[in-house]
Amino acid sequence: MKITIFGSGYVGLVTGTCLAEVGNDVICVDIDEAKIAKLQQGIIPIFEPGLEAMVKENQSEGRLRFTTDIKAAVDHGVFQFIAVGTPPDDDGSADLRYVLAVAKGIAENMDEYRVVIDKSTVPVGTADKVKAVMQQILASRGKDLEFDVVSNPEFLKEGAALDDFMKPDRIVIGTDNPRTAELLKALYAPFNRSVDRVITMDIRSAELTKYAANAMLATKISFMNELANLAEHLGADIEKVRHGIGSDSRIGYSFIYPGCGYGGSCFPKDVKALERTAKEQGYHAELLNAVENVNNRQKHRLFEKINKHYRGNLTGKVFALWGLAFKPNTDDMRDAPSRVVLEALIGAGATVQAFDPEAQEEARRLYGDMPGLSYYDSPKGALKQADALVIVTEWKQFRSPDFDEMSQQLHDKVIFDGRNMYEPDRVKRSGLAYYAIGR
Ligand code: NAD
Repeated sequence: MKITIFGSGYVGLVTGTCLAEVGNDVICVDIDEAKIAKLQQGIIPIFEPGLEAMVKENQSEGRLRFTTDIKAAVDHGVFQFIAVGTPPDDDGSADLRYVLAVAKGIAENMDEYRVVIDKSTVPVGTADKVKAVMQQILASRGKDLEFDVVSNPEFLKEGAALDDFMKPDRIVIGTDNPRTAELLKALYAPFNRSVDRVITMDIRSAELTKYAANAMLATKISFMNELANLAEHLGADIEKVRHGIGSDSRIGYSFIYPGCGYGGSCFPKDVKALERTAKEQGYHAELLNAVENVNNRQKHRLFEKINKHYRGNLTGKVFALWGLAFKPNTDDMRDAPSRVVLEALIGAGATVQAFDPEAQEEARRLYGDMPGLSYYDSPKGALKQADALVIVTEWKQFRSPDFDEMSQQLHDKVIFDGRNMYEPDRVKRSGLAYYAIGR
């Protein structure tokens, strides 16, 4: 099948590559000329495990191409995916300007039937806006062309994106046209072989499903963080509580890890956007509001613990910081808790020696030569001459450090762990003070 993907970011690039991997002829189009030039040379602008090899293979076999030429992309085939960003606007609502620009581009260039498939996370009612923009442009061109707009939200997780796309839990197809649903089912058939995972529904429900999924996951995290804070007041251990409740099959173990808050490009913006959608309908989304507030507070918890330990005097202190990405296996630092912690430490007069296996380039892009922030090429390197260690991302390579060596290296012999990576007794046996979350 001939497929066009607008947007070559985390979602667009993974979608295009996986669709090419199963034999389709895919064109990825982006307005970022530098990004496309890199991709044409096989240089992948993001870190996502396994992606680089898969892009290169499909590119060399001619199934995956990159362009900035909108006309050629629209001419390419029936399926036109929208996978561009929907960042938060000033008021928290999703900014639809990129999505609608793609709709406009398709309508300006199409000469026959097209299916426009929205993979970006967009508020309920966006498909209607896409339709309206396209109808208006086609009318101005004097063209009476048929098209369909489908909502096909994406549920991949950064860090495991290829697996999530190739073996999805579900494929949601929101459409009001049964014929289009069949077209999409055929497109997704290679990813839907063992059991039928396609869930078809009306467009508005599909649009809401994506927000509902992310809001539910964010709620689980904020709930656990709320309880973690309470556990600290009560002298309980949240990790024991997590074990205790996860064993209930109605609750389950996934996504109930306490920590220093959720980040990334999706949860913070999607919870906000859903809250905003509710507000526009005159409905006050009490729970969503609390989920967001708890998370914002949680992102400051680690710094508060550090500040309290040092009795408010952080001037001249040197902190090793392990982890910059918002979670392991990605280089994404959008809304990452690390940013709150490192900015607060530097703001309080301390210096930060950071290590992250993948996100250092992104940190350099974000912070430039910010005074007080330096980077190291290993976790151990970041500990040199440091007073204390702060952990914000649970990368695998941080799981089993040499605590005895660490105890000798860290001048103040203290670890602040925002991800509850270690057994407190083990750390303390090495003569280190250990602050975690909720225990
Ligand atoms: P991203 O910022 O990584 O990539 C977006 C890309 O779109 C950029 O390369 C940008 O240059 C390009 N773009 C903007 N306007 C364009 C246009 N008119 N034509 C062509 N390209 C254009 O974003 P992302 O993380 O891939 O997210 C894309 C969408 O998918 C968002 O709505 C997001 O909420 C949703 N989503 C993201 C994830 C995730 O884990 N990142 C998961 C599921 C859904």
